[in-house]
Amino acid sequence: MKSLFEENDLKAYVRQHAEIPQPLAARVYTSKLIGRDGTLVLHGGGNTSVKLKMTSVVGEEHDVIYVKGSGSDLSIIEPEGFVGLDMEPLVKLRILDSLSDEEMENQLLTHKMIASASDPSVEALLHVFLPHTYVDHTHADSILVLTNQKRGEDLIREALGPGVAVLPYIMSGFPLAKAVIEVFEQNPQAEAIVILNHGIFTFAEDVRVSYERMIDCVNRAEAFIEKKIQGKPLWTRRDDLSPFSDRRKSAARFSQMVRGVCAHPGPEGRLRRFYVTIRNRPDLAEVSLSKEIREICGSGVLTPDHAIRTKNRAVYIETLPENDESLGQSLRELVETYKTAYERYVEEQAKVRGIGGRELDPYPRVFIVAGLGLVALGFTRKAAGVAADIAEHTIEAKLRAMAMGGYLPIVESHVFDMEHWNLQQKKLGRTTPPILEGQVAVITGSAGALGFGIADRLLAAGAVVVISDIDEIRLERARSTLAERYDGDRIESVVFDVTSLQSVEAAYDDISRRVGGIDILVPNAGIAHVATIEDLDTDAFDRVVAVNLKGTFNTIKAAVPVFRRQGTGGSIVVVSSKNVFDPGPAFGAYSASKAGAHQMSKIAALELAELGVRVNMLNPDAVFGDEKISSKLWDLVGAERMKSRGLDPEGLREYYRQRSLLKIRILAEHVGNAVVFFASDQTPTTGATLPIDGGIPAAFPR
Ligand code: ZN
Repeated sequence: MKSLFEENDLKAYVRQHAEIPQPLAARVYTSKLIGRDGTLVLHGGGNTSVKLKMTSVVGEEHDVIYVKGSGSDLSIIEPEGFVGLDMEPLVKLRILDSLSDEEMENQLLTHKMIASASDPSVEALLHVFLPHTYVDHTHADSILVLTNQKRGEDLIREALGPGVAVLPYIMSGFPLAKAVIEVFEQNPQAEAIVILNHGIFTFAEDVRVSYERMIDCVNRAEAFIEKKIQGKPLWTRRDDLSPFSDRRKSAARFSQMVRGVCAHPGPEGRLRRFYVTIRNRPDLAEVSLSKEIREICGSGVLTPDHAIRTKNRAVYIETLPENDESLGQSLRELVETYKTAYERYVEEQAKVRGIGGRELDPYPRVFIVAGLGLVALGFTRKAAGVAADIAEHTIEAKLRAMAMGGYLPIVESHVFDMEHWNLQQKKLGRTTPPILEGQVAVITGSAGALGFGIADRLLAAGAVVVISDIDEIRLERARSTLAERYDGDRIESVVFDVTSLQSVEAAYDDISRRVGGIDILVPNAGIAHVATIEDLDTDAFDRVVAVNLKGTFNTIKAAVPVFRRQGTGGSIVVVSSKNVFDPGPAFGAYSASKAGAHQMSKIAALELAELGVRVNMLNPDAVFGDEKISSKLWDLVGAERMKSRGLDPEGLREYYRQRSLLKIRILAEHVGNAVVFFASDQTPTTGATLPIDGGIPAAFPR
């Protein structure tokens, strides 16, 4: 590992941030360097700090520490990711023998320099107690490879030498902060402190020295490990197992099944669904077929901090039965066994402490499927990705420890303390999740105004949204516009052709591999053609029917096996048309194909109720787009409609507005709101039609 420190980059960063104290800017700069390397810290792991002098509003100079905010990610941290704390009262806490978590938190919060700054890291007091200007802390993989072995302490001493002090594992918070300053005072020459099964702290008066001490320690650990392993293969392949002939298909099927089996009622009474992240690079798929993988899944985390993202153990799946029913059965059994073991662990640990176990769900977060790779679950897409990243690093680190002689994780009681620690759970955020969090929505025809508006509303309601269209360029424009408004993590785009069942099926497999499956389906793709029956060309008629009727059929048909495998119900909201009840002349292809799709949707409501899938229809009247995202349908037919009515574009919009009872212009977001309403299962409704037309008596459903 090379030091990424560049004097010129540091200067440039400091110059760009002239409004903040120079030492803080330097702190942010090297923090980002640490964050850039996944073998040092992952997603919110690790923390850094700097101590400096500031002048208060009354002109007094005092000592302030800037420490990383809780949960901030070092790789993307900016000055706002740090929180300033008044040093003086906090340093004094050292004289106490003990300090409750609640009081420690209270002390940290009441001594923030800016009331609205984020909460400081749970390791903040440790940074306060150490006297150095700069303190850097990581959970470096190679340090954990060494500490998580039988002779962990000896190995670390051997690898890092006498300049590094070593502490046994102590839970983060006040006790660790005290232990660290005490061990430092006993070893005032120490340049770093390793905490077994946790990580490493380096420190110095100079920003570069503190950072480079970290790199140096990690390099020495790496070199020591390499010397011990000496090119030995890290794993041996089992010859009785083989990779899947169709890994892509198997991955899609497994994702759908596993998220179904693990979905469960949440605290708000709603079904909590997981998102799925798959990692199946060839080397990971190979490791999943190794002799070592069973032990890797069954042994505990590298450091208790990881357990809040991955839980302590992973589930190993040796074979995937070909048929869905057997796969479901065996998955349910494995998950049941995992849950029972987890509940027993919580019960035992809670009993020892004389407390009630905190209500964390007992579901696994990481699965290793032989021949497939790694499958991680999370309540948010981000959480699934974080679990997958940590699990990947864990596999690698455990393999290296095993090759050196044996992997020995920390005892469960420490994992429990961290996993069920109030302050740690806070890091994950405990606000009520948005109404559609956990769900995946797929919208066809999303490159146009209507599909775009629906995507926007579903994203606002917390869903992961897959926009799709046959027009790649327009779809990308829609995606990038949505990504300006919402977290890009929750937006996926897939190009497919609704007129081909094969294309739709392949797209659904792709979506399942990317996010887990499908819960909300919005068949929205549609085209129009203006011609009287006398003039309607049969090819044009076929084209309209292929998209509007057959497209809706394909979109629904391909989703049925997905809904069946998940077994968690779902919602189909079909974008029908006001035309179905109130057609107009010279619009036969459109109206008839939409009416056919509408009827098909009613049949779907009848047939899919047994799966808990609701099917409802929306009948909007003319929805126009704006300059950025125009309506494809109106791009096609608008000119002819205007010509036949002798109107300009604004006149046409006004014409449609005036023809409704409420005299309201219909917007894409109105349709989106209705999709969110049906998709959030707020009423037990299926087979219904909701007009979104400002009130057109001729189009009242009947
Ligand atoms: Zn830590």
